[in-house]
Amino acid sequence: MSGKVVFKPYDPDQATFLPYSLEELVPLGHPVRIVKQVVDQVDVKPINRKYKGGGASSFHPRLMLKLLVYGYLSNTYSSRKLEEQAQQNIHFMWLLGMKKPDHNTINRFRSHKLSGVLKEIFSQIVLLLNQEGIVCLKEAVFTDGTKIESTANRYSFVWGKSIKTNKEKIKSQLDELWQYAQGIAAEELKDTAPLTFEQINPEKVKQTVARIDAALDDKPQVSKKVKQKLNYAKKNWPENLERYQQQEEILEERNSYSKTDPDATFMRLKEDHMLNGQLKPAYNLQISTQEQFILNYSLHQSSTDYQTLVPHLDQYEALYAQKPEAVVADAGYGSDENYEMLKEKCIEAYIKYNTFDKEQKEGIKAFSNDSLHYNEQGNFLVCPMGQRMTHIGDHQRKTKTGYIQTISSYQAPNCQNCPIRGVCHKAKDNRIVEVNHKLRRAKEQARERLNTQQGLKYRKQRPVDVEPVFAHIKANRGFKRFLLRGINKAEVEIGLLSIAHNLKKWKA
Ligand code: SF4
Repeated sequence: MSGKVVFKPYDPDQATFLPYSLEELVPLGHPVRIVKQVVDQVDVKPINRKYKGGGASSFHPRLMLKLLVYGYLSNTYSSRKLEEQAQQNIHFMWLLGMKKPDHNTINRFRSHKLSGVLKEIFSQIVLLLNQEGIVCLKEAVFTDGTKIESTANRYSFVWGKSIKTNKEKIKSQLDELWQYAQGIAAEELKDTAPLTFEQINPEKVKQTVARIDAALDDKPQVSKKVKQKLNYAKKNWPENLERYQQQEEILEERNSYSKTDPDATFMRLKEDHMLNGQLKPAYNLQISTQEQFILNYSLHQSSTDYQTLVPHLDQYEALYAQKPEAVVADAGYGSDENYEMLKEKCIEAYIKYNTFDKEQKEGIKAFSNDSLHYNEQGNFLVCPMGQRMTHIGDHQRKTKTGYIQTISSYQAPNCQNCPIRGVCHKAKDNRIVEVNHKLRRAKEQARERLNTQQGLKYRKQRPVDVEPVFAHIKANRGFKRFLLRGINKAEVEIGLLSIAHNLKKWKA
């Protein structure tokens, strides 16, 4: 026999005698309380300075900051959704004291008032963590990068290479037209100085086409095709060149950018659902962590990590007026420029180079450049057969960041009839080896350091310190694409995410 069914009291009108206190509805230790507590401690003067004064009253910057930080902490990124949360969610209502900014206000605050100043707020929170002894800014940091897609249209690309090719085409076609005109209207063009088309600009092209057109005007033998070409050139070339010039100014050192977010560069992302290696407009996010807390973040337009370490660490120093004692990073950062910069700053580099892991498993590859003994005093290399490879010269190479590398060349005196020539090298002449001595020395030091007790400890810690932060941001927070356009606004989003990440972790 079943027992009597008992229901809890239920009022269909949902009437309560007194309204609930929001304070009672927010549990102690809830993340929203941490957001309130921490944001109440930060100095918001940097944001205040962005208000012009006059006009209607504004929501307090601290209130708006709380709204955005808690929004990013609870995976709510859209300004319309944040507006909705402020009206309906008791945690937001408690945090904002029942104030209800609309989505335009939220967006304006995020895009304009936080741009350029949020990093200062972020650093204040990291300094609080440092004060509490949760992190130590002087100790080692773990640095890594990931690419996050921009909100730009995926097919709005401008390629640097296409611009170059199109300019070359215009140059050669203009040259052809000029030669043609010289052939049949030499008399009309007699007084004209010989033209070179190495450097062309819209004005020069316009004038040259006009002169060719005038010279060929009354020549009956000029074909219809040439006339059409001249008309096309008159109409399009100066305009196209002007556009290429503007595009090159935006590109600077990059190979590509997006028309709908010119700050974004096309990069290969890990998230490649179509498995076709499609390049997408994105930013390269660099972070330095300690105990999975983010101590520094920076956004870059270059897709290669090694180019980002110098500006990233400069920002760290500028924020905290101190340096970490060591930087631990993967092989993507192992360049002579980075090793040198860290040495100059007296920061220990626990950074692998590209062949480190392979070397550890299989040893240094026989016959490779690195396997050849170098005699510093005599400045020569010793080849696998014991021959002295003499120094035949140096040349310099400039990296994309402007760093100058010195490359020394050495040549074996005689490789004819060498029994191991087939495995040693494939060149017809005697073997020539190019060595970057700075990098070679830095690699030796890095190898030694990475195999110390401390090095092994850092190598084990790196994948569990910095990499889970990216996984957390992308998988748990679902933040895989920026919402705002432009690097400054995208940086605000990363700043809010980093603050939210640190506060959530602090609470946990
Ligand atoms: S091929 Fe030339 S460089 Fe190589 S081991 Fe023989 S002598 Fe030396």
